Amino acid sequence: MLSDHIRVVGAREHNLADISVDIPKHRLTVVTGVSGSGKSSLVFDTVAAEARRQLNETFTSFVRNRLPRYGQPDVDAIENLPAAIVVDQQRIGGNVRSTVGTVTEIYSLMRLLWSRAGRPFIGYSNAFSFNDPQGMCRECTGLGRVRTVDVDRLVDLDRSLNEGAIRFPSFQVGGWVWRTFAGSGLFDNDKPLRAYTPEEWRLFLHGDGDVTVDLPSRGGAVPARFEGLVTRMERVWLPKDPDSLKGRTREAFERVVVQRECPECRGTRLSAAALSCRVNGHGIAECAAMEAADLVEVIRAVDDPGSATVVTALVAQLERLCAIGLGYLTMDRPTSTLSGGESQRVKMVRHLGSSLTDMLYVFDEPSVGLHPHDVTQLTELLCALRDRGNTVLVVEHDPDVIAAADHVIDIGPGPGREGGRVGYQGPVAGLAAAGTPTGRFFGHRPAPRAVTRTPTGAIEIRGATRHNLRGVDVDIPTGVLTAVTGVAGSGKSTLVRGFLPETRPDVVVVDQSAIHASRRSSPATYTGILDHIRALFAAATGADASLFTANGEGGCPGCAGLGVVYTDLAFMDAMVSTCEQCHGRRFTDEALRHRLRGRTIADVLGLSVGDAIEVFPEPRVADVLRRLADVGLGYVTLGQPLSTLSGGERQRLKLADELDRPGGVYVFDEPTTGLSMSDTATLVGLLDRLVDNGGTVVVIEHNVDVVNQADWVIDLGPGAGRNGGRVVFQGTPADLARCGDSVTGRYLRSSPP
Ligand code: ADP
Ligand code: ADP
Ligand code: ZN
Ligand code: ZN
Repeated sequence: MLSDHIRVVGAREHNLADISVDIPKHRLTVVTGVSGSGKSSLVFDTVAAEARRQLNETFTSFVRNRLPRYGQPDVDAIENLPAAIVVDQQRIGGNVRSTVGTVTEIYSLMRLLWSRAGRPFIGYSNAFSFNDPQGMCRECTGLGRVRTVDVDRLVDLDRSLNEGAIRFPSFQVGGWVWRTFAGSGLFDNDKPLRAYTPEEWRLFLHGDGDVTVDLPSRGGAVPARFEGLVTRMERVWLPKDPDSLKGRTREAFERVVVQRECPECRGTRLSAAALSCRVNGHGIAECAAMEAADLVEVIRAVDDPGSATVVTALVAQLERLCAIGLGYLTMDRPTSTLSGGESQRVKMVRHLGSSLTDMLYVFDEPSVGLHPHDVTQLTELLCALRDRGNTVLVVEHDPDVIAAADHVIDIGPGPGREGGRVGYQGPVAGLAAAGTPTGRFFGHRPAPRAVTRTPTGAIEIRGATRHNLRGVDVDIPTGVLTAVTGVAGSGKSTLVRGFLPETRPDVVVVDQSAIHASRRSSPATYTGILDHIRALFAAATGADASLFTANGEGGCPGCAGLGVVYTDLAFMDAMVSTCEQCHGRRFTDEALRHRLRGRTIADVLGLSVGDAIEVFPEPRVADVLRRLADVGLGYVTLGQPLSTLSGGERQRLKLADELDRPGGVYVFDEPTTGLSMSDTATLVGLLDRLVDNGGTVVVIEHNVDVVNQADWVIDLGPGAGRNGGRVVFQGTPADLARCGDSVTGRYLRSSPP
């Protein structure tokens, strides 16, 4: 037995065909293969899952009961498994107090530096924390934003009190609060608010005092407290959590209560004392608002003997952020606004600074969203992690990352049932000769499109100004395939996703975001073919179509047609188990008694798309199934829960829905994420099909193989953040390759013809 390898024996999760692999320790291993071949099933659902499970076993039962539960993966054995750290593309939580600075710990180092080297000295590092009462702005409690009442939206100036000038449910005419206004004798109840004197208006908004209110039902005047409109709204309504409100009240609340930058701290979240403290003349909030690439220079210049170690650590961490292609991020950027790829790289920075060794680091396509220019630096960092004595395991498609690997495991050859086997494992030098789909494409890249198509017109975007864009004018040609390129942070998403949908109503954005759906949603329900299939069952058996609905009459009562039962356990994730009544088949015995073409409804939902084409020749069903097969989803089953699809699979499901619909403007945001080189070739074919049907396709992409196939390229840059946001080039891919100013052009040039 080799102790310098992690040995996986007999892995069978999902589609894995009882495979065994060796992962060399202290090396960089890249796992490749087409989408759906089983890479994640091996790396995340088997190796990383087992490492987590074993780690959890080491805790006391008290702690264990409070951790998420991991089932035992379906594998005979995993030997020599070190502790694992998984760096995936899950977004970092939406907590408003979490920023790039706080999650990378760069901001805690900054606090330490300001508390040591700052003038005037104001206290310990807590005094610079917006999440600590000592450092936070009191006005906004460190959120940087405050809620205020928008009086313009709250009142109708053309009306009087009697006419219902106050447009908020609790102030309705005749109600008690309204009577404190109308019965107070302070106002003329028939005078429109617009005609109030300045003094009346001041009382109306900000008054506060005792009055007597005329209340006929109580036989005359009663004492009451009068609060002006704003006074009362601020006391009673502003502190409320909008989620606790319902219906008309909630609508009104959301209309009149607005968030604004905190006037006290101007959005910096910090106390006046913290803001006034300076290091080398710079305030901490000013520095948190700088792009990392600029901040590192400011910190480097700090020459304070007592803070040398903090400065060194801070510079090192900022340099890592820049090296990983994130030099355009500011420390005050809320993590909730980062993309999946940016989130993964931010998390990566946390680990790159760590001195742990002999760990297993697992990455999920770390090149996502990275320009080829930044991929070189990324591979250097992965190698640095390895050279510190760690084992690095990466799921990746990018040929430059694959080329840097010490060891390659190629899973395939196809997706789903046609995959799950090991096509090749060994040094990268042997991959091209292995004869696998990955091997065939590795080193043989498609040449630029020889003849570009002619546009039918153009969509004009004028004066686009947001984030780092400053008055960008650009024409997007219609009836062709346009690639929008540029390094990460250059402004591609801001331009295309922010401005294109505003130009016309027929813009469809096809991205990898989750499909809003219930636990019962599947490809069959999403595409609507299940309705047709139910009708076919009804026609063939004479039973009612509703009998073949899992969430209706025919659904198993034990699990409400889900096939699984969720048991909620206090403090823990819900436990999922197969329903004992239907054994996961989701339907009642009555429903399963009926067959169509020899199959029950449960059998049909278990068919793969490819097999279902043979069973359903009816065009309304077959056409949809064929489109699903065309986008490379022939291996998914009709009833597979949408929640088990990967981002790339979801994107292609949405794409299948759009294919063969003539015309339209389609925006794809990094459609090659999760796709191997051979999948990418298929994708380009589909994009061509949309164009050939009269569509306009715009892709945000770095992938050279896609850019080469475009008719037109718009390159943003030249750099990221402040150094980007301009159109550097517009033209054909061949011309871009000759453009001296474009970083992207350089990579098109270097790709083999
Ligand atoms: P890759 O990572 O290579 O894209 P995956 O390991 O995600 O592939 O998927 C391999 C196969 O297993 C696919 O057919 C996929 O649909 C299926 N699969 C993945 N996750 C689940 C799951 N949770 N339940 C059922 N099938 C799954
Ligand atoms: P790309 O798509 O080319 O990677 P983006 O359009 O995402 O670039 O970003 C362009 C610039 O705008 C970057 O400096 C980025 O940090 C900034 N930016 C993007 N989204 C936000 C946001 N929600 N809040 C603040 N700044 C943002
Ligand atoms: Zn404030
Ligand atoms: Zn059941």
